[in-house]
Amino acid sequence: MVESTRARSDEPQSDPDKAGALAAGPVPVGTPTVRPAFDDDHPPSAELISDCVHCGFCLPTCPTYTLWGEEMDSPRGRIDLMKAGLQGAPLSDTMVQHFDACLGCMACVTACPSGVQYDKLIEATRVQVERHHTRSPGDRAMRAAIFALFPYKKRLRALRGPLRAYQASGLPSVVRKSGLLDRLAPKLAAMEGLAPVLEKREKLPERVPAAGTRRAVVGMLTGCVQGEFFPGVNAATARVLAAEGCDVIIPRKQGCCGALSVHNGRQQEAESFARSTIDAFEAAGVDTVVVNAAGCGSSMKEYADVLADDPDYAERAKAFSAKVRDVSEFLADLGSVAPRHPLEVTVAYHDACHLG
Ligand code: SF4
Ligand code: SF4
Repeated sequence: MVESTRARSDEPQSDPDKAGALAAGPVPVGTPTVRPAFDDDHPPSAELISDCVHCGFCLPTCPTYTLWGEEMDSPRGRIDLMKAGLQGAPLSDTMVQHFDACLGCMACVTACPSGVQYDKLIEATRVQVERHHTRSPGDRAMRAAIFALFPYKKRLRALRGPLRAYQASGLPSVVRKSGLLDRLAPKLAAMEGLAPVLEKREKLPERVPAAGTRRAVVGMLTGCVQGEFFPGVNAATARVLAAEGCDVIIPRKQGCCGALSVHNGRQQEAESFARSTIDAFEAAGVDTVVVNAAGCGSSMKEYADVLADDPDYAERAKAFSAKVRDVSEFLADLGSVAPRHPLEVTVAYHDACHLG
């Protein structure tokens, strides 16, 4: 979603402290008018930052570092920027640019031998960026449009008709060949290029019964984008679970899980989606909540952190998070009983980063 305008460098920078200081800009000692990057409301944890020993093992796993070779676009460099922010450096545009460019893929988390919890650090940082950084009008408009649309099923559904008509019209190839959208609105062009070819929407019932002997009763998240843009994935997930002996409960009242908001520092919005999701699945009375989108599952496993300060939901969030399983985790634990019909094909498996 974030497009970088940074200068590309072929030579990786190797001095993280220097890089951090450069991006943070001069620290205005004794200048009362310049606000430090972070306030005291859950800034990135100094303790977690101190776990980073600057070894650099994470660097080759970071897509933004391998692409740009820029220390400040590496996990280590970003951690150093957080440290500079904690020490009083202001939240400069450059600093925000490097935080924004982080994909949140968490490849660095599994690569780090020191167990640095970069996921927690970047999430806390993004909340602070949202609170204190003023974006350009164009950026604000784009983000407002994204967050007014993507987490809401009904709005996405309303978009399906026009989008399907556009895709069927042959216009997409004309638009792409002309390069006009790329020049006028590069972010919109990127989104247009990523839009899936919309398949027919299959409406799932509230309960899909187990085939044969029932072995488990599970709730299933249908999500927002997943449900409207990739409905076939949800339908296939329910079929597989049912074939493995699960009653699948699909609460009508569920909506967006809040992952998009969590990953973008939109704290209040994330809390609100988390509460609604907990309400919906508590009412369904299921012991397990199965998710087929790794990013959503990862956020739902963190509801205890998202709602830690909410006295009404903190304990419920912990209990809820303990029930969340990615569909592949769940099926691996359950063991298979459904008859197999092997296909003679070679497939590639994408090991989702948030699942790792
Ligand atoms: S691998 Fe871990 S400790 Fe080493 S630089 Fe990266 S984040 Fe820091
Ligand atoms: S989350 Fe991904 S993009 Fe961000 S610093 Fe870690 S490896 Fe790099």
